[in-house]
Amino acid sequence: MISSEDIEGLIRPELKVMKAYTPIEPTDVLSQRADIPEENVIKLDGNENPYGCSARVKQALADYAYYHLYPDPEQRELRKALEKYTGTSSEYILAGSGSDELIDLVLRLFIEPGDKVIDCQPTFGMYTFSTDVCGGKVVSIPRKQDFSINVAAIKKAIDKQTKVIFIASPNNPSGNVTPEQVILELLNSSAVVVIDEAYFEFSGVTVAPLVPKCPNLIVLRTFSKWAGLAGLRVGYGIFPINMVKHLMKIKQPYNVNAAAQVAALESLKDMSYLRGTIKAIVDERERLLTKLSQIDWLKVYPSQANFILCSVLNGKAKMIHNGLQRKGIFARYFDTPQLKDCLRISVGKPEHTDALIATLKEIC
Ligand code: PMP
Repeated sequence: MISSEDIEGLIRPELKVMKAYTPIEPTDVLSQRADIPEENVIKLDGNENPYGCSARVKQALADYAYYHLYPDPEQRELRKALEKYTGTSSEYILAGSGSDELIDLVLRLFIEPGDKVIDCQPTFGMYTFSTDVCGGKVVSIPRKQDFSINVAAIKKAIDKQTKVIFIASPNNPSGNVTPEQVILELLNSSAVVVIDEAYFEFSGVTVAPLVPKCPNLIVLRTFSKWAGLAGLRVGYGIFPINMVKHLMKIKQPYNVNAAAQVAALESLKDMSYLRGTIKAIVDERERLLTKLSQIDWLKVYPSQANFILCSVLNGKAKMIHNGLQRKGIFARYFDTPQLKDCLRISVGKPEHTDALIATLKEIC
């Protein structure tokens, strides 16, 4: 009989050594960890929307009568609604089970083993993760000290095997956007340039209108942040039309489930509510920034997203992170060479800011 060692031997060697992605934990696990009731957890670690989704979404999900049927594999109604929202014809649009799925699909379309993918660290970890899964090679071009991308170094690194460049704008975790002028320089290359605008609604800065004119530009977006649908998994991309044709062919037929399609459609019909929550988050971001900046052992980076990156200057980032956790406040802690002693704090409601600031002052 075949042994489990033999089966191990069948696994792709590069996947055996691949580093796992570090996801965030759900609220029930966090509440157990802090030993406090779930409703008291202040979750500022996932850039989620503290106001949740529109009430109309909950009603539409309750009323939907067709959960026993497969959803539209071509996502026609959703893509049509996204045409109106984005101002780009639906032929350019494809939805995914979160933008995470679209990152994976783009790489599956372009990457053969050994092909190169450029990312600009520190940045969102799924670019590396999905490149590794696809057998590609990540070429990381570090961002500069102010977290702007190093265009000259990227251009120098591009060779015949470079297929895709990922730029998150605003970038996670630094919160800064990459200006259109800089993106245009990259579009002048032979690689596919993916601009990940997961936080677009908080920055208002987009290059989406350029997609129909650029054969190598992709813009990715998500409903997870501004629309409060992270748990339902729905994102979309704006792609050159000929890429949509191939992506439609290689995606799982029913990749965006019925509930996610209903919720995304209803969100787009309740823009006045969602614009209100986006404004509340952007206003709160500025208040949080001011409050954090008043703490002299923090260096705070300005952000155009729904989170703020802080460098902890007293060398106690880990201790502070743990101290916050004990009080039921969860932030994201980084300790990599580029993000030494850093915390990324998602923007919550005003009362979350107040609890966070009070606890930070108490800890140190
Ligand atoms: N891109 C960036 C830059 C992100 O920060 C995230 C979420 N953390 C995503 C994409 C993934 O979003 P989704 O929930 O749509 O998969």
